[in-house]
Amino acid sequence: MLPVELIREIIFRYVDDATPEKPTDLVHPSPSSRNQWFDVKPKAYWDSVSSLSLVSRVFRDITLEAWFQTFVVRRPKVHLTGLSTIPGVSQWTRVVHWINPTSFSEGLSLGHFSFKRSLMAFVRLRKLRIAAFPSNHSIILLEMFEELPPTVVELELRYHAWPSPQQLVPTATLLPNLRVLEMHQERAWCSLCNTCNVLRLRDDPVTITYTNGDGLPKLYNRYLAPLLHLRTVRLSAAYTLYGSVGLQDLKTPWRGECGECTSLHLTDEAFVADWEAQNKEEPRPPSLRKVIWTFAPVEEEESSEEDTESDYVDDLTRLQERYWMELDHDSDDDSGWDSLGSGDEN
Ligand SMILES: [Zn+2]
Repeated sequence: MLPVELIREIIFRYVDDATPEKPTDLVHPSPSSRNQWFDVKPKAYWDSVSSLSLVSRVFRDITLEAWFQTFVVRRPKVHLTGLSTIPGVSQWTRVVHWINPTSFSEGLSLGHFSFKRSLMAFVRLRKLRIAAFPSNHSIILLEMFEELPPTVVELELRYHAWPSPQQLVPTATLLPNLRVLEMHQERAWCSLCNTCNVLRLRDDPVTITYTNGDGLPKLYNRYLAPLLHLRTVRLSAAYTLYGSVGLQDLKTPWRGECGECTSLHLTDEAFVADWEAQNKEEPRPPSLRKVIWTFAPVEEEESSEEDTESDYVDDLTRLQERYWMELDHDSDDDSGWDSLGSGDEN
């Protein structure tokens, strides 16, 4: 028999290798695969690792520990109930992947936001990752949570259709020890026109890395300033080549401004002097060192936008109906752990 430490190393690696690649898209899957929204797996399929748990008691314990490093919450009522059924889960989980199952308006009508959730049971949680529902325009985000463990040092937000600095206001009280913040979505927030837009540029942008704490949109600085330990912020935005300005041509820092404002204002030297002074006056997180902007090209087919949007809404309606049908079925069994045996949703 191999030493337990070695078995542990092998099993953790096996589960890691069986985990699907983390998506890098800034928007939800393409129209042809939207119906797979509910099948997106941020962790290994249980079926792909379950055989390990049948070898022995030691193998089973280690396999469960490795598999529950990431805990998926897609149905809060089900998944946050009965955590004690497998006592180790609250100790094992390092990442909670929260997938919003419904749009804001749908959630309101169904009482989804009628009370706040707590993740305090996960005593060693390091990271919270929130994936928005497709085309979610909600500003409700961290307000969904009553309290989060003080051990959380990373927050990742993905797919939000309309990101807003306002969404980050609760971080100061909910996540006082936050060190790393990631925001990946199609639109970036522009502090000049106070909207979020797809970036229209003339040339392909390259990754921008600030190492002096600069680089955040003005209001993000203001709302994140109380976070004493925040050191790194990673942001992604989509762009099209329908614009008239290139970020490489600018002689001033670019902080998420939209293509139109960049072209109109950030090329105006008189305006830039005043704008820089305003940005310098804004409080910012005292430990912030790195701000990294990455970019992804996106196709804009404006002529067919209306039809595409209509199809999209139809798809979403069908998905929501399917979700709530599943949820109704689950409500007959609030322990939720049957789903562990029948599939691999935790
Ligand atoms: Zn703008």
